[in-house]
Amino acid sequence: MGSTGTAKKPNKNRVTRIYGSGAQDLAQAADVLARGGILAVPTETVYGLAAHALDEKACRRIFEIKGRPLIDPLIVHIHDLAGANRLAHWNEWADSLAKAFWPGPLTLVLPKKEIVPSLVTAGLDTVAVRMPHHPLLRKLLIMCNLPLAAPSANPFGYLSPTRPEHVLKSFGQKLEHLLDGGPCQIGLESTVVDLSQPHRPAVLRPGPVGPEDISEILGIEVLVETESRMAATTDEKVHSDTRGKPSPGLLHKHYSPGTPLVVLPCQDWTSQESPTKRIAKIAYRKPDQAELSRSSDMFWLTEDGDEQQAAHGLYDLLHKLDSLKFDLILIEPAPEGGLGTVINERLSRATGLKPDTIG
Ligand code: AMP
Ligand code: MG
Repeated sequence: MGSTGTAKKPNKNRVTRIYGSGAQDLAQAADVLARGGILAVPTETVYGLAAHALDEKACRRIFEIKGRPLIDPLIVHIHDLAGANRLAHWNEWADSLAKAFWPGPLTLVLPKKEIVPSLVTAGLDTVAVRMPHHPLLRKLLIMCNLPLAAPSANPFGYLSPTRPEHVLKSFGQKLEHLLDGGPCQIGLESTVVDLSQPHRPAVLRPGPVGPEDISEILGIEVLVETESRMAATTDEKVHSDTRGKPSPGLLHKHYSPGTPLVVLPCQDWTSQESPTKRIAKIAYRKPDQAELSRSSDMFWLTEDGDEQQAAHGLYDLLHKLDSLKFDLILIEPAPEGGLGTVINERLSRATGLKPDTIG
């Protein structure tokens, strides 16, 4: 599947209308949003389920379609700084990070302005904003000239989608409109950084922009709060973080395939083997020929250890293996550092483990 110039008519098996990159398609897609509709959109990170962020009724549909609890706030996407300023009380940190990383895979959490419906922020006094760099989404944002609330386009708790077919498979007829931008370039969700607390910038979700890059730009060490918060958070008590605010993205189990997943170094894989189980095995790096000829159902994330390739293909491979109905997926942790750390963090969520038990 890739971008086409013309909207495909729905057939009797699929009612989702698919828009391509042509001007007429984009205009129609923008019109869907302006009329309060829901449109799945490509971003450079993962596909999102977008609606006009100031239209409360439309945003409520996002929660319904995803089965997302109302305590889990949405990220709002904008195409310029004026758009961000309209929604959030801007500060110097935001200015510096936006200059360094926008458009791109970095979400800034800032004090919210009144214009943003509290449904979008799950009642918080902060709003998460991001300026994406996906060219088709940028064109759409400019054309519709609306802030777009867009969480990842997957049923709540499931793997994020990195291809249009993942979105279609998850939602089927529940989704009426999809903008097809082909596969997502990065394939992992954005970094979320909280800039709302004076003197205390904090990464709430690790992502493609690393904490050291953020610290360097801000000239102050950014805290990575996810691990300490996760450790203090039980699944029954996901609503409260150390400041007494919701921290729903810190659910132990998230980003999970339906198939049980175990993160384990390759040398320990034999411990999981059983004659009655069909097991898919994912190495980080392509195994050598001798290894490949010894084992069946072997997969890998990279040919030669390239972390971008690993991140780009991770969810796609998990989606594919999930549909092949294995009894178990074993996956080797990525080497720590950069995107490897982010991959391991997502895998730890997928299995419900704490990140420090992986990698
Ligand atoms: P998703 O869009 O599904 O990838 O998830 C968005 C992430 O951003 C979730 O982990 C949310 O908890 C987080 N988020 C959105 N808005 C806020 C906010 N105002 N404060 C803290 N985290 C937020
Ligand atoms: Mg998500």
